[in-house]
Amino acid sequence: MRQTENILERINKQGIVLGDGGYLIELERRGWVDSGSGREKVGAGKGSGQFTPEVAIENPEALRQLHKEFLNAGSEVLQALTFFGTREKLNRAGYGGQTEAINDAAVKIAREVAGDKALVAGSVSRTQLFEREGRSAANHVRDLITEQVRLLADAGVDFLILETFFHLEEMLIAIECSRESKLPILATMTFRPTLTQCSDGHTPADCARSMVDAGATIVGVNCEQEPDRILAITREMRKAVKVPIAAQPSAFRTTDAVPCFTKLPQFPDEMESIQLPRNAFQRFAERAHEEGINFLGGCCGCNAAYIHAYARGLAMTTKTAQRNVS
Ligand SMILES: [Zn+2]
Repeated sequence: MRQTENILERINKQGIVLGDGGYLIELERRGWVDSGSGREKVGAGKGSGQFTPEVAIENPEALRQLHKEFLNAGSEVLQALTFFGTREKLNRAGYGGQTEAINDAAVKIAREVAGDKALVAGSVSRTQLFEREGRSAANHVRDLITEQVRLLADAGVDFLILETFFHLEEMLIAIECSRESKLPILATMTFRPTLTQCSDGHTPADCARSMVDAGATIVGVNCEQEPDRILAITREMRKAVKVPIAAQPSAFRTTDAVPCFTKLPQFPDEMESIQLPRNAFQRFAERAHEEGINFLGGCCGCNAAYIHAYARGLAMTTKTAQRNVS
């Protein structure tokens, strides 16, 4: 059975909606996803960088299991594992011919686990072409994302999560491509290598305003930073726009000098050594209301234990609010 409520109605009713965690890094840790280690770091420039979602067709049970864990931990939204699922990125990893099958299978698996308990979001990420080819890639990016959005809409997602875009220009293209689907759009930028500007030089506030103007229903930030550090970005966005704010931090500890985990030498083969404890996520959830955050999820490094911690944090603040009322 499909949920009839959409994500915006759910946020309006509850104040905060709990999302899920990061799939590719967790499935890599479990041995089901190729990190591309030994070839090239993700987004570094030339090759594939891998971290592609073919697990949806090659080992669907592994993906199904992770969805179940997030749902059991309290996730109210399951993201289909369609991150890096555009045809050109899949092509570089040797899976371009299975683009339709991977996107379709990922949505069906998420839907099957979600049942009537969670919404299903289609994930659309940066293509990596802006990093590789610059702005001249714009038309190619438009074609690739248009194709993926159509596949996700056909497979029946409830809304779209556009995430991990380093360039605002590419994000705005993705929002434009997504609008045709008429699905609600949750759009989150990723800040690397600094917290104050995205890769093409826009502040968090500017990004938030531009994403709303382009048609995003919910805007925010995901990946690269841990909760304490990502707050600097959500606060700027909160001040700049009125729409709901989303935060999906990663669960890796970064530094003042390098506030993004994919630029740390521990990425991708020593991440255990910078893994953040899950109570950092509980504390973040306890603050989410006062920080004006309306969609709380996790990105890389966040498995079901972290979603459990979020759920505990949210339950604590709800109890405090009830005590204050009574
Ligand atoms: Zn991430």
